[in-house]
Amino acid sequence: MSSSISERIVSIRSSLPTSVKLIAVSKQVPAQAIRSAYAAGIRDFAESRIQEAASKQAELQDLPDITWHFIGHLQSNKAKKAIEQFPWIHSVDNLKLAQRLDQLAQQLGVSPQVCLQVKILPDPNKSGWSVPELLADLPTLNQYKNLQIQGLMTIPPSGLNDPEILNAFNLNRELAKKIQEQNWSHIKMQHLSMGMSGDYELAVQAGATMVRLGTILFGDRS
Ligand SMILES: *Cc1c(COP(=O)(O)O)cnc(C)c1O
Repeated sequence: MSSSISERIVSIRSSLPTSVKLIAVSKQVPAQAIRSAYAAGIRDFAESRIQEAASKQAELQDLPDITWHFIGHLQSNKAKKAIEQFPWIHSVDNLKLAQRLDQLAQQLGVSPQVCLQVKILPDPNKSGWSVPELLADLPTLNQYKNLQIQGLMTIPPSGLNDPEILNAFNLNRELAKKIQEQNWSHIKMQHLSMGMSGDYELAVQAGATMVRLGTILFGDRS
């Protein structure tokens, strides 16, 4: 990639519907590159490790209007830090974690926005609720009043072709719609967090409201 971060941001932004939030995934990316993306207008950044994020967040404190999103697998012992550092958590992937986050949010007097991570197709390599598990857990999740449950996050299994990926994203949208129609008092389904560098166009086609883009903005992480 010979273009600059800001050129890539401008070009991708202009290809996205204005209703879709572009979240820049800055894991393994130095603070300086985050500043470049910020200068190009990005205000939403995502990280997948608490420790790595903490040092960059400290370094970037002069940019107070950044919204930080957590997208990694969250261990229980890091839950408190996650809530303190991240107003958004996209990767709430099981009931026990949701319960822990709810308790901590109450203690800390905050109400984080969260997405429930769903394995919309069976996938032994990922964490997240299967569809039947999620439907069964909704009554309990509805009681976690310190969490603002905003929608579903999904990552399709690897190895699918484009029509299969599109189908997975469509299934996720339909699941969100089904849950919304159940009219839970504390579960909203306004957001679909789906789409990464390789598949975000398909995700947008299927109704994503937030895309999480790393490599395509910042280059290879390796
Ligand atoms: C790393 C990561 C991304 C970004 O992936 P790219 O392919 O670099 O765009 C998005 N979502 C999650 C959950 C990730 O871990």
